[in-house]
Parts: sequence; structure tokens; C-alpha cells
Amino acid sequence: MPIIIAVSKTFPESEIVPLIEYGHSHFGENKVQEALNKWTNLKVKYPDVKLHLIGKLQTNKVKFAVNLFDFIHSVDNEKLAKKISEEQKKQNKKVKLFIQVNIGDEDQKSGVSKKDLKNLYNFCKNLELEVLGLMCIPPLGKDSNLYFKEMKTINDELKLKDLSMGMTSDYIDAAKNSATYLRIGSKIFGLRN
Ligand SMILES: *Cc1c(COP(=O)(O)O)cnc(C)c1O
Repeated sequence: MPIIIAVSKTFPESEIVPLIEYGHSHFGENKVQEALNKWTNLKVKYPDVKLHLIGKLQTNKVKFAVNLFDFIHSVDNEKLAKKISEEQKKQNKKVKLFIQVNIGDEDQKSGVSKKDLKNLYNFCKNLELEVLGLMCIPPLGKDSNLYFKEMKTINDELKLKDLSMGMTSDYIDAAKNSATYLRIGSKIFGLRN
């Protein structure tokens, strides 16, 4: 069974706490600053909670991200990987990582291109980073299924175990294509503004 990451971005503490109290343990945020505001105290109060950064990470925020998060899903360039490695050493902490792939080859989308993926993965391995697997956000308005299949194939080629894919609109297809982490927001918390 895949692990469900409850994506709590934009939702206040008061709507997150009942879910933690109920026993859910994996949560996701897409902005470092928002996560710091909401989760710094919650993580102390609920030490078993696992927090996932699923949004873009700028190198100047890496020190905060490594400190707060247990997983980072958005590694997509060497500079960022190097910075994460340096911060992990400074803080004596290890974070579990996913490499984000721009699986639809979209111009503005985050994620490493398919052609640069192997190099980035090897770069991360040489830094002894703990890469669990690949992550993607398929192009909007297209059938995600084809992209998920391709992700599974690439993940297997790299002999990686985990796959972070699937959101409210396409999590069933993601699960059928061997996703191990589903990132679900609105289906759990309701519509965002
Ligand atoms: C917001 C977000 C999600 C969750 O989106 P929903 O459609 O609300 O389930 C998943 N992944 C990423 C990267 C996100 O930013």
C-alpha cells in the first residue's frame, strides 16, 4: 500500500491537528516559510510526524528545509543537491530525497529533464545522498497514466524503490502504476482558495 501524504498547504494548524490526533503521520507542504510557521511547534509536540517538502526549494532556504523536513521531493539540480549535502553535514541530519523529473518536458515546469536525470542521480550518489526514488507532476489536462508508466520504467532502470506521484485528480492511476507515496491535498482537506 502506498503511503498517503496529506498535503496541508494553505490549511491552518486547527485543521491539521485533528488528523494527527486521529493517527495520520505523513504531511506535505510546498513552501518552506509557510511550513516553518505552521510546523515548527507541531513537530515538537508530535515528534512522530513525518514532514515532506513537495514544492520548489531555493538554495538559500536549504538550511531551514533540512532542519524541518524529513523528506524533500524536489531535488532537480546539482547545486541544490550539493547544498543539501553540506547542510546535512553541518546539522548532522539526514533527509530522505526524491529527484523531481520534468516528465512532460514542459518549459516552465520544475524538475530535471529526462536526458539529465542519470547524471544528476549519479551526482547525488557520489555525495552519498539518500535518494529514495523519483517524483513527478504530470502535465495539466493530459492523461497522467502514460507519464506514470514512464516514471515507473525509469525508476526501475535506476533500480530505485520509491515513486512519489499522484494527486487528488490522478492518485488512483498513480497507485496502479506502483506509486509508493501519494501526495493528496484537496481530497483530504477540501478545496484551497
Ligand atoms: C498541492 C500539491 C499536491 C496536492 O494537490 P491536490 O490536487 O490538492 O491533491 C501534490 N503535489 C504537489 C507538488 C503539490 O504542490
